[in-house]
Amino acid sequence: MNLADRLKSDPFLKRLSELLGEEEVYVVGGYPRDLFLGKRSPDIDIVVLEDIKKFIEPIKKLGPVEFRLSEFMTAKFAFPDGRILDVVRARRERYPRPAVLPEVEPAESIEEDLWRRDFSINAMAISLRKSNFGELIDPASGLEDLRRGTIRVLKEGSFRDDPTRAYRAIRYSLRFDFSYDPLTEREFDLARKYAGLLTFPRIENELRRGSTEERRAEFFHEVEARGLFPWEHRKASIEELRRLDKLLGERKEGDWVLFFALYLPESAGAREFVQNLPLERSEKKVLMDFLELREEKIETDPGEFHLKQGKRAEEALLVLAACRPGLRDFLLDYLRRKRNASPRIRPAELMEMGFSGREIGEILKKIEVLRLRGEIHTEEEERAFIRSLLNRESGS
Ligand code: ATP
Repeated sequence: MNLADRLKSDPFLKRLSELLGEEEVYVVGGYPRDLFLGKRSPDIDIVVLEDIKKFIEPIKKLGPVEFRLSEFMTAKFAFPDGRILDVVRARRERYPRPAVLPEVEPAESIEEDLWRRDFSINAMAISLRKSNFGELIDPASGLEDLRRGTIRVLKEGSFRDDPTRAYRAIRYSLRFDFSYDPLTEREFDLARKYAGLLTFPRIENELRRGSTEERRAEFFHEVEARGLFPWEHRKASIEELRRLDKLLGERKEGDWVLFFALYLPESAGAREFVQNLPLERSEKKVLMDFLELREEKIETDPGEFHLKQGKRAEEALLVLAACRPGLRDFLLDYLRRKRNASPRIRPAELMEMGFSGREIGEILKKIEVLRLRGEIHTEEEERAFIRSLLNRESGS
């Protein structure tokens, strides 16, 4: 099947091309790359050579859509079937300083836009224009690199301009099992040198994306090994990372913070480091909880442990289980028991029995601990326990 037929087998692109007629429009980046790899990505990046406003109405004819005109020269369309269409005007970029966002202006040709991209395999475009539908524009020989299995930057100094590309390179090399060409390999030295100039949210974004990859343990390991954690940190072993991956199961973006926890420095400044990170409160809490746990002597009685645990995030326990394999079974067993440890008896019933608010809190806590220890299993046993308390009181 030629490219045009392959594209047409995607009804969405076929219809888009029909609606746009003779406009110069290209599908670029991940979609062509994945198409050659025999996969169909749900996200489609479109490049146009004129003001994008001109394309908004025709694209809306594709169906019900949520639409957002964002930033400079870009528009996002989200369709109910999960497809995301990003429309961007062709641009050229200039990096005034290493690791800062580029200054951009419209480009005159698709080739110019392709040359500003990260890797040759992501610098291919396929025309959607009616008269040359399916024509491949591949100025950097991306298709050849795709066939050879090579990640190759488009120019020297690429990772100095934008060190986030180094994290991206690692992600693609692991995802596709590709190797780096010699220039790209050398570029990692520049990335190491300049990564410290990136803002934290830009690095976080890369770690987030890496944390949804199948080989995320290897991703974090390589990021660290290549010097791309530009702050004081401990080294996490590949075994710890793999254990965490396994403990978490399903891959989620939010997991990045748990992998990140494995790298928190072991020095006294770790808490301050976490406090100063520009993170959500819940993310900081997991990290702080983990730091506390890491320093604590762990009681291997689930009841005692529970009392110390308080309101600590459960995820922090999973990170601890990943770096202390000896505690893994205990921690997993605790988490399992905890799920079933909430007292069944209602506080209202305890109130009717004449207990004060404070006493009720204490009783419920005790029941929780007994449930965790496996000494209470049913609501009836809870009542028997409460009766024993009353008897003890009246007997004393
Ligand atoms: P993925 O499958 O990882 O989502 P993608 O190719 O769709 O891959 P995006 O991050 O959505 O990746 O980027 C879209 C395209 O924009 C890329 O294919 C690449 O051409 C270009 N691009 C993205 N980030 C950079 C960057 N930091 N420097 C240069 N070009 C980039």
